[in-house]
Amino acid sequence: MTQHAVVIAGGGPTGMMLAAELALAKVEVAVVERRPDHVLVGSRAGGFHSRTIEVLDQRGVADRFLAEGQVAQAAMFGTTVLDMSDFPTRHPYSLGIWQNRIERIMAAWIAELPVRIYHACEVTGFAQDDTGVDIDLADGQKLRAQYLVGCDGGRSVIRKAAGIEFPGWDATRSTLIAEVETAEEPPKGIRHDAVGVHGLHTMEDGRTVRVVVTEQQLGSGSEPTLDDLSEALVVVYGTDFGIHNPTWISRFTDMTRQAAAYRAGRVLLAGDAAHVHYPAGGQGLSLGVQDAVNLGWKLAQVITGASPESLLDSYHAERHPVGARALQHTLAQTALQRRDERMQPLIDVVSELAGMDEPRKRLAGIISGLDIHYDLGEGHPLLGRRMPDLDLVTAGGPLRVFELLHDAKPVLLHLGEPQGFDISPWSDRVHRVDAEYTGPWELPVLGAVAAPTAVLIRPDGYVAWVGDRTDSGLTGALSTWFGAPLRPGAPARLQEETDARWPA
Ligand SMILES: Cc1cc2nc3c(=O)[nH]c(=O)nc-3n(C[C@H](O)[C@H](O)[C@H](O)COP(=O)(O)OP(=O)(O)OC[C@H]3O[C@@H](n4cnc5c(N)ncnc54)[C@H](O)[C@@H]3O)c2cc1C
Repeated sequence: MTQHAVVIAGGGPTGMMLAAELALAKVEVAVVERRPDHVLVGSRAGGFHSRTIEVLDQRGVADRFLAEGQVAQAAMFGTTVLDMSDFPTRHPYSLGIWQNRIERIMAAWIAELPVRIYHACEVTGFAQDDTGVDIDLADGQKLRAQYLVGCDGGRSVIRKAAGIEFPGWDATRSTLIAEVETAEEPPKGIRHDAVGVHGLHTMEDGRTVRVVVTEQQLGSGSEPTLDDLSEALVVVYGTDFGIHNPTWISRFTDMTRQAAAYRAGRVLLAGDAAHVHYPAGGQGLSLGVQDAVNLGWKLAQVITGASPESLLDSYHAERHPVGARALQHTLAQTALQRRDERMQPLIDVVSELAGMDEPRKRLAGIISGLDIHYDLGEGHPLLGRRMPDLDLVTAGGPLRVFELLHDAKPVLLHLGEPQGFDISPWSDRVHRVDAEYTGPWELPVLGAVAAPTAVLIRPDGYVAWVGDRTDSGLTGALSTWFGAPLRPGAPARLQEETDARWPA
């Protein structure tokens, strides 16, 4: 039986991001993907939001996506575009880029990393014991792993086999999505009516039209056909525009559910396997990528023995509330897409409020993911929030904070008098960087905050500890997040590497 440290079921955006995180943390990882290659038929998601761009920037790969997409003020609530160009981030926008491109770029990235991929392989079940998980594949093969992560989408086999409940709301509305050619020029843009939203969009090749049309009745579970699409178009537009040559026809619904637990022993869930919702607001892919970035370094530390298994519980504790909040917001946005005379006054009220400065910032903070606040206790406002990508000055020259996170290791960023904190017992795991920063400290939605003397930044870019002039709480935070201190005399390899890269 082939053995791996981690097996990831599903090589969509979540699975690929997690594989990259584990590989960067030098953990052996394999992805089992049902598709024969990384090619995604159909365009699917239309892009991602600011915090996801930041997360990719933290790994030094955001430019690959930015080069192939279009930045826009595209965060919306209901029908109101939430301008976030005044947000204090290097990426105060959303990125329009089709999911099949996103997956192509991600696949090229993980091909540069030591990630084993089993294409055209399907996970059918598993059995876990005290030391690992036996994973069954459809072709009769078995794999063994210390941990199994289900990134296998909304119909997750892993979630079902783990017996994890998936409470929520059944579908009330279904929407057909397709890429077709048309005999007639279709009207551009989005249309709303009493059943929901409809839209036609000519793709970059000038020939293919992406059709999104909400069905009058909840569609069946069977695969939709060209006839179904034609019928739905005729009801809304009075014509089907002579649709033909479909390359992709699919159906999605407003079913909204979230896994009751993101972990069952040695099995974890991430992405759509852990939460599904209507794509209003375009948050699904972003949520999955950020689940992966929250889980990756924690799983790596448990596998390498640096941290106890209990560190994995913080994955559910941090990501489940973020998922629950996104579900709540997509339900609200989905309701606002239905337009009739009784709904219009509510839509008008919400639009008016969403246009005001404070609600705009608050809603844009949620949709962009920039306001995420993990509950790490009382303290400085930075605690549990994303570390801003500041322009630092180090003895080795100028440096952005996100550059410090490219290799997915924790960083103690020291901005006070040199040599203020001794972290030598963790110097095999935590980079220490001395730097100067004289600019403003401003967080999205919250605004200006007091300048700290030092911050402990987790590999996912969230602040685990904020220092003043003393190191009170630092050793506790280091132990909580990055494991027990080194025994005296043990080699401190990482700090030597750090000193060579960013000499203080
Ligand atoms: C029309 C539409 C528009 C959307 N727009 C947006 C948007 O604008 N922004 C946004 O953020 N999100 C959007 N989403 C949501 C987004 O597409 C999903 O949230 C995202 O794909 C989730 O990624 P994932 O990797 O978790 O799951 P998936 O993308 O579903 O990937 C799961 C992978 O697992 C594989 N797999 C499944 N079962 C098995 C198995 N048993 N064994 C092996 N492999 C398996 C599948 O082949 C697949 O590759 C949209 C979705 C739709 C339908």
